[in-house]
Amino acid sequence: MTTPRAPHEETFDPRTPEEWAAFRTLAVRMVDDMLTHLADLPAQPTWRPMPDAVRAALAGQPVPRAGIGAEAAYADFVAQVMPYPNGNLHPRFWGWVEGTGTPLGMMADMLAAGLNPHLAGFDHAPALVEHQVVAWMGELLGMPGASGVLLPGGTMASTIGLAVARHAKARELGRDTRALGMQAWPDAAAPAPMVFYGSSETHGWARKAAELMGLGDRAFRRVPVDAEYRIDVRALRAMIAEDRAAGLAPFCVVGTAGTVNTGATDDLTAVADVCRDEGLWFHVDGAFGALVHLSETLRPIVAGMERADSLGFDLHKWGSLPIECACVLVRDPALHHAAFAAPASYLASMTRGLAVGGLPFADRGLDLTRGFKALKAWMSLRADGVDKLARLIEQNVAQTRHLVARIAAHPELELLAPAPLNIACFRYVPDGMSEPERDALNEELLLRLQERGIAVPSSTVLHGRFALRVANVNHRTRRADLDALVDAVLLIGAELARPSAVEAIP
Ligand SMILES: *Cc1c(COP(=O)(O)O)cnc(C)c1O
Repeated sequence: MTTPRAPHEETFDPRTPEEWAAFRTLAVRMVDDMLTHLADLPAQPTWRPMPDAVRAALAGQPVPRAGIGAEAAYADFVAQVMPYPNGNLHPRFWGWVEGTGTPLGMMADMLAAGLNPHLAGFDHAPALVEHQVVAWMGELLGMPGASGVLLPGGTMASTIGLAVARHAKARELGRDTRALGMQAWPDAAAPAPMVFYGSSETHGWARKAAELMGLGDRAFRRVPVDAEYRIDVRALRAMIAEDRAAGLAPFCVVGTAGTVNTGATDDLTAVADVCRDEGLWFHVDGAFGALVHLSETLRPIVAGMERADSLGFDLHKWGSLPIECACVLVRDPALHHAAFAAPASYLASMTRGLAVGGLPFADRGLDLTRGFKALKAWMSLRADGVDKLARLIEQNVAQTRHLVARIAAHPELELLAPAPLNIACFRYVPDGMSEPERDALNEELLLRLQERGIAVPSSTVLHGRFALRVANVNHRTRRADLDALVDAVLLIGAELARPSAVEAIP
């Protein structure tokens, strides 16, 4: 600050006190505009399609060789980007499983980016914050003392868990997968194909992980589900026995706490028993459902989760933190470390200075340079408290029960699957229509709900039938928002079932 910068010495910082003042004014306006955006959400449509002019402005522009300045770049953001996100902040957004974020989480992400620390490890306060968040999560979710690391999403969290499982179980079988991978080398015994299990309702991360890890999709054994969409534990035991008889090497069972389609939770105690009896690793995908454990009243739903060897879950879904924030916990810290630690001379730990303690987070996954995702978790949990998060989860479950009751009360609405948690799958069923016609009607109904900005459910297919799917991880939703959805479904459903009624709808 004391030595003035020569005009030819470039920097991305403002260069003079005047430039700093101007940037400060712009920065304050950015914060102000975004807070206004958040405060005004309920009055806005849930989603608005992009006008063609905006589409054109955002595509095919020449590479900006010379800058237009922060003011102009920000003005373009305000005009072209800010009005057209996917709507997941809105109180009537229940599509897929997308978290809503929070104002405090947003500010924490800004602070994290401002501080911009390197979270491979190192001996600095941000690292202690992440260690603290991981320790809290272990304690809160029934895995005290577990090793953990924050990750971008549940896909990565469960993939890391599965990778630890593979390494640990292969070692028991006498194979070092870190050295040999899954390949048959001429000078080493050919490995039995390693296979793992999960229900047919397991999220798509399992397939990606199997492919990435060189196991192949074939190694993911999809176990049938019962009428409640939970893994059929007898079928699981039978498949393991058959696979062993066929010379395969089972290594892991994935149980799901909160399936993506219907919010079902496997009988995790029974799955844990299978894993104990068979010597298999027990991984739980609790992308959104793991946090149910925070609620004393709902905890029985995920009983058995606390017996997991590893647990992957999101904080950006039901935890309401801004995307991206997820976590993997591994019960045995030594096994977690053994699966990923990769010492290098340029990353060596020192006895003093900044590199004390090495790079513990880099040793728990694939990432080396990592951002300060822990800050939003740490600040939000401290500011609001875990009890409030538990109450919000209970609120979403109660709201979903309310929605289910409204569906049950109306003869033209049909619930298509049990709704044990926060997901309801249903459809509009007018008399005198074939199943294909009903599918087509409900698909059009969904699109009209979205395009008119009324609400955003997403869809799925259950037993071959097209379903409107409401997944409620939304802390902004009120009961009245779900009532508005039901009213709109009935109205649009009638409009579609009786084309003559279309003119009557504005
Ligand atoms: C969302 C989800 C995932 C994937 O998590 P991402 O954060 O989207 O990567 C995995 N499993 C289940 C059950 C999910 O709902």
